[in-house]
Amino acid sequence: MRAVDPARADRLARVLRGLCRDVRCGEPLRRHTTFRIGGPADVLVVPRTADELRAVMTWLYASAEPFVVLGRGSNVLVSDRGVRGVVVKVGGGLDRVRWNGPRVVAEAGSGLPRLSFRAARRGLSGLEFAAGIPGSVGGGVVMNAGAHGHSLQEVVRAVRVVAPWGEATWPAQALEFGYRTSRLQRTSAVVVEVELELSPAPVEEVLERTRRWLQQRGATQPVRLPSSGCIFRNPPGDAAGRLVELSGAKGMREGGVEVSPLHGNYVVNTGGGRAEDVLRLVERVRERVRRTFGVELELEVQLVGEF
Ligand SMILES: Cc1cc2nc3c(=O)[nH]c(=O)nc-3n(C[C@H](O)[C@H](O)[C@H](O)COP(=O)(O)OP(=O)(O)OC[C@H]3O[C@@H](n4cnc5c(N)ncnc54)[C@H](O)[C@@H]3O)c2cc1C
Repeated sequence: MRAVDPARADRLARVLRGLCRDVRCGEPLRRHTTFRIGGPADVLVVPRTADELRAVMTWLYASAEPFVVLGRGSNVLVSDRGVRGVVVKVGGGLDRVRWNGPRVVAEAGSGLPRLSFRAARRGLSGLEFAAGIPGSVGGGVVMNAGAHGHSLQEVVRAVRVVAPWGEATWPAQALEFGYRTSRLQRTSAVVVEVELELSPAPVEEVLERTRRWLQQRGATQPVRLPSSGCIFRNPPGDAAGRLVELSGAKGMREGGVEVSPLHGNYVVNTGGGRAEDVLRLVERVRERVRRTFGVELELEVQLVGEF
């Protein structure tokens, strides 16, 4: 493990504090991931306004300092060694929403569950599927998050990004959405806000669907234990959870993590879990599924930091 250079981190933090109020050195990233796993960031920057985010990103692009972007940390596995350089967290704080009839513009850090319920209460349909997805709308667009046969690509109209070449609005057609993927995964652009177009519908109907889907999730997924949601992508025409279950891997453990006995595609942190436990467990599960079905499971969760 390369030691953190505290003097270098301090220098970086001093510059960044001129651009953003919330800058922390050596912050444990397990506090910022739903898995409750992850070592320290040399420097964590938490912009609370779009202007702070723009200023931080403009400086990072110009200085060529390495950086990683986190949203609400719900689809990542952060290394136990943490992240060298700067982590920019686009989460709570950057969550203002402008409502204009069915057109909604949400800052990138807006939480999907709250946005989904707020839309439902306004009689706006299209985000019911997102009530149980504990990510940000920015991270959701990057991942094209979805559930219950729907995904964000159906309602996203455009995103506002800051990128090394400046700020721009990209229409949905430019985002190349696919299953849990978008063009944003292949650029260093950062999402500042997302424009959605929802459909007017009776409030009770939208709320009922939102609540029903949330309940279904609570009954079939281990939503009370720390995790990163589904750990594997579904292979074409199949469900990773089904293959994991039939291979007999449910309940398998490594250190503080386990394949959920409730849902085969969830690895849960039962206490003190480490990233290296997750990776060892993932390898054992993949091996079983490969031996049983000849299928190679791919990670859905993104690895962040020094592995
Ligand atoms: C209990 C649980 C249930 C889940 N259920 C589902 C589900 O049903 N369907 C589903 O699709 N996912 C699900 N997930 C996974 C996760 O919630 C989604 O992928 C979510 O959209 C990720 O958003 P995030 O803000 O947490 O992103 P993060 O995990 O923080 O980041 C994910 C990726 O997006 C990038 N990113 C984040 N924000 C930005 C930004 N503003 N600009 C540029 N890049 C950014 C990061 O660099 C990273 O590459 C679940 C997770 C959990 C823990």
